[in-house]
This record gives sequence, C-alpha cells and structure tokens, in this order.
Amino acid sequence: MALLQISEPGGKPAAPKHRLAVGIDLGTTNSLVAASCGQKVEILPDDEGNYLMPSIVSYGTNSAPVVGHAALPAAVEDPANTIISVKRLLGRSLGEVSDDEQFGQYQFASTGVDSAPVLQTAAGDKNPVQVSADILSALAQRAERALKGKLEGVVITVPAYFNDAQRQQTKDAAQLAGLQVLRLLNEPTAAAVAYGLDSKDEGNVIVFDLGGGTFDVSLLSLQKGIFEVLATGGNTSLGGDDFDRALMALVRSKLGATEELNHKQTAQLKRLVIQAKHELSNSSSSELIFNDQTVRLTVEDFSAAVQDLVRQTITACRRVLRDAELDKDQIDNIVMVGGATRMPVIRQAVAEFFGKEPLTSIDPDKVVAIGAGIQADVLIGNKSADSFLLLDVNPLSLGIETMGELVEKIIPRNTTIPVARAQEFTTFKDGQTVMALHVVQGERELVKDCRSLARFELRGIPPMVAGAAKIRVTFQVDADGLLSVLAEELSTGTRAEIQVKPSYGLGSGEIEEMLQASQAHAQEDMQVRALREAQIEAQQLIDAIRAAETQDGDLLEEEERAQLDAAVAKLERAIADANKNDISEQTEALNKLSGEFAARRMDLHIAKALSGENIDSVESTND
Ligand code: AMP
Repeated sequence: MALLQISEPGGKPAAPKHRLAVGIDLGTTNSLVAASCGQKVEILPDDEGNYLMPSIVSYGTNSAPVVGHAALPAAVEDPANTIISVKRLLGRSLGEVSDDEQFGQYQFASTGVDSAPVLQTAAGDKNPVQVSADILSALAQRAERALKGKLEGVVITVPAYFNDAQRQQTKDAAQLAGLQVLRLLNEPTAAAVAYGLDSKDEGNVIVFDLGGGTFDVSLLSLQKGIFEVLATGGNTSLGGDDFDRALMALVRSKLGATEELNHKQTAQLKRLVIQAKHELSNSSSSELIFNDQTVRLTVEDFSAAVQDLVRQTITACRRVLRDAELDKDQIDNIVMVGGATRMPVIRQAVAEFFGKEPLTSIDPDKVVAIGAGIQADVLIGNKSADSFLLLDVNPLSLGIETMGELVEKIIPRNTTIPVARAQEFTTFKDGQTVMALHVVQGERELVKDCRSLARFELRGIPPMVAGAAKIRVTFQVDADGLLSVLAEELSTGTRAEIQVKPSYGLGSGEIEEMLQASQAHAQEDMQVRALREAQIEAQQLIDAIRAAETQDGDLLEEEERAQLDAAVAKLERAIADANKNDISEQTEALNKLSGEFAARRMDLHIAKALSGENIDSVESTND
C-alpha cells in the first residue's frame, strides 16, 4: 500500500517523488525489463535498441561475466563456459539435471545428487542462483542507465507452475544482485495486468502462453479492477521448438534425403526451417533452399504437420475450464502471450474453440514485462493501489501426513493466495509428547505418491490419553507462493514452525505428471484411502481393548475374555488380509462384543471417582 505523506504544518507540501521501480520478465531464452515512462509502461531497450536480452551468461578467466547479446558468440565458441537456459536449473538438484541432454555441454561439480547443481566455469564454480543474479544485474544496469537513477524495487515474473524452491531461488538471485523484490508475479497474471489496465476488461479471461519451450494456460477472473487466478494448467514441455521439429520432419521428407545430416547441416537446416515458420505467420507460403534443393511450404502443409501439437494446447484449455468449473462461453477474453502465439494456426484454433478472437494488440513477447512494470509502479507507491489487487493460486495441493501414510490436504490446489488455513490434529498414542509433522505437496492420497517438502517436530505436548491433545496446524502461503507451517498445542501454547524453503525442487514436467497421475489414479486412491482408514480404526480399537484388559481384566468372565480375544484375533487377520469390507464387519462385531465390558469399566471408574479417586484414567474402549 502507498504510504501517505504528511507535510510540516504551515510548510509547502512536497512534490510527490517518482520512485524508480521496474518489472522484469526473467525468461528461459530472453529477458526483458519494463518501467513506467510518463503515462505508459514501456520496455527499456539497450544502447543498440534491442528490447530482448538473451538470458545467456559467459564466464571467462579473469573477467567480469558477459551477459546478453555480447555473450551470443561465446555460446557457439565456448559452450562449456557459457550458460544458457539457466532458468531450467533453478530449484533443481544435480541428480535431476546431470543426465539431461540439454545440459550436456556443462561440467557439474560432484557435489552429490541431492545438492544444487554447481557449474564449473573458467571463472570458478557457479550455481544457478549466481548465474540468474548476473542476468538480473545486467537488466538492472540497463534500467538504471535508461532511467538515470537507482532502482528502489523490482517485480519479477515467474511461471505459474514454479514451485516453492524455484520461487525462493528467484528471490535469492535478486537479493544477490542487490535488488529489492517488491513481489514475484505469475507470468499469466502479469499479462492480464497489461491488458486489464489498458483495455479495462471485466469478466473471465484465458491467458494462453505459448513460448519457445513451454505452454501455460491460466484462467483469470477480472472484476471491477480485481484480478483473481481461478485455475492454471498447461504443458511444460510443449512450445515453438516442437513446431520447429514438426516442420523440420516435413522439410526432410520433402527433400527426400535419407542420409543422416551432420551437426553443421542440421543446424543450418534448422535455421532455415525456423525462418520459414516465421514467414508462414505472415504469408500463405514460403520457400527454403537447402543443398541446392528448393522446398516450397504452404500454410496448409504446416497446419497438417502441427495438427497434433495444436490439439494438445486446446486439450489443456479444456482442462483448465473444467478445473474452474466454467464453460467456454463464459470466457470473455483470451490474451495471447509468447512468440509462438504469432502462428495463425494457433490463433485460429483458439478462436474456434472459444468462439471469439483472441487479444493480440500487445506484442506477445512484451506483454508479461509490461504487466510486471505496471505492478512495480503501483507497489513502489507511484500509483494508487486501490485500482487493483492481485490474487494468484497455488498450483499443487499442500497437506500433511496422517496415520497410515495418508495425506490430509490443508490447502487444495488452485486455492487463491495469499491464504492461511488451519486444521486440528490429535495424538495417536497415550502419553505422546512429540508429534512428527511431514509437509507434502501433490494431489494423490498416499504420502509415497506425493512430494515431500519438509519434516519437523512439535515437542513438549503434555502427556494425555490418545486423542485428547489438540494440535492446530496452520498453513500459510504468502503472495509469492512461499509456504510456512505452524503447529501449536492449544492447552499450553507450545509451538513449532517451519518455513518451507527446500533447496531444490521438482523438474518442471513432473508437476504436469503429478496432476495427470492424480486423475488417472483417483478411484484406486480412494479405495486405498478407505482401506487404510478402516485398518487404522480397527487397530485403534484393538489397542484400546488390550489396554483395558490389562487395566481392568478382572471385570471379565473367563469365557467373555476368550470370546473377546477370539474377535480381536479375527479382526487382526482381516487387517492383515487388507479386505476393507471384512475389516469393517469385524470392527463392528468387536465393538458390539466389547460394549458390555466398556459399560462395566465406566461404572467402576465413576464409582471410584465418586469415592474420591482420580477420574483422569477413565476411558472407554468404544471411543
Ligand atoms: P518466446 O519464448 O515467447 O520468446 O517464444 C519464442 C518462440 O516463438 C520460438 O519458438 C519462435 O520461433 C516463436 N516465434 C517468434 N516469432 C514467431 C512468428 N512470427 N511466427 C511463428 N513463431 C514465432
């Protein structure tokens, strides 16, 4: 919120100072920086007039890192010391990336598979946070030169699917670059901000973001200046590159060449293919000449070759609509983001599916940075914050492990953030003084199918009978999507807290896989959950009966005890056989059979209490 200025009594009010803040689109391939210049937010170009800055850093011996366009030649001549696509390394572990072909040219230090990847360069070891910091520094320098002053804050955009680790490392990189992060902003939300303020949209908006290597689709609700992300989805390994590959295959079949191309020839043909792809966005045909052969390509050829890829983007749109429980005719606007949305085949498919033309008036490469620039201007206090409020969602459910290795979801996926949700839990064993909390992320019912985020313990719970202690667990996700978990024992106020800041995160494709797996296994998961719950309930009953027999066994006739033990043995067999119906039947039978014993114990303890003995140990076997 903007701070109010108070002027000295009798003095002249000071002219409001314009504070310098920028929006940064920190991209995998290219990055941009935008700032408010007068009435409009604009992309700040470099001295040569380039607005895109390649996200490339080259490290040489005894020299400062070379970033952006200046590093392009080194990407070819010295690939081992020139880091490209570092965004794909953020928040990931060495084990996840060391065998990945796209990082094949790098030497990673052998730090252990679970630790963050460390790149060995001529300028020494560099981790992804340091490389990202060098890119951010270069963007900040560009901005400070253009704006002629020191930056006071930045808004950095991140993909909607970035997990906690990836977001945290983006923040760490900014801090290392000496930048004050006003906020991390989801890329689709930034795009909606750019259009929302420019064209005063109201209603439901789809943000369709097809870049070079990734596809994100988000559904936002815009009402009276308030943006809310209702759902997000997409495919983290689908992008313009796949269209290049499809067109390459078509060109090769047209060339009729059967022999393998060498590395240089492949690179040359690829360049021609990408050029043709771009031409086909503006004209109905294109020609390329390779090895003295001319290949003619038409828009129809291209459309047929990429049909399957186009269909995949529409399937993702359908899924997002389903998540938000909206119909496609309830969508009022579609915002196009990313260079690959320039392809008419994409624009047509989107228009056809939603029954309306997508918005393309803002350059799809600049729209995210412009939105971030607008946000930065508001957050630094140059503009009234009342005009809009941004809400995002968390992409995967967050929960806690409960007995039976089951997951209790506390914040479901697609919940609007920032958010705080609390739930009460209790102890499982009599006299339990420590509770182990395991925080997990994912959509499945069993812990083993979800992602472990953190473990911590709440100590100092006063000893009580099982189920008597009340432990409130609060999950809080801040505006940047970072999670903190607080556990509190309510009678004593004993607390334990953890900030989830895992050092490495999910591979980007895994989030998509997790969502798909949860849908594919929904029914099976429910059955496993029901079985586990029945097993836990049955085991608790058995434990309670055993404890009661030890304490008050003399209340039972010998035959009654034998019957009870036989029923316990039967229930134990049912638990071991993992037959849900059998367990439920035997649990009910044992409950009935032990009812009389429970009643006798209750009478005895009440009588003792009335005669002055302690009632604390009273407990029913039927609880
Ligand atoms: P981005 O990651 O948003 O910069 O998107 C880059 C992708 O957009 C690459 O696959 C480019 O080939 C593609 N692209 C850029 N301009 C065009 C165009 N005019 N027609 C088709 N694809 C384009």
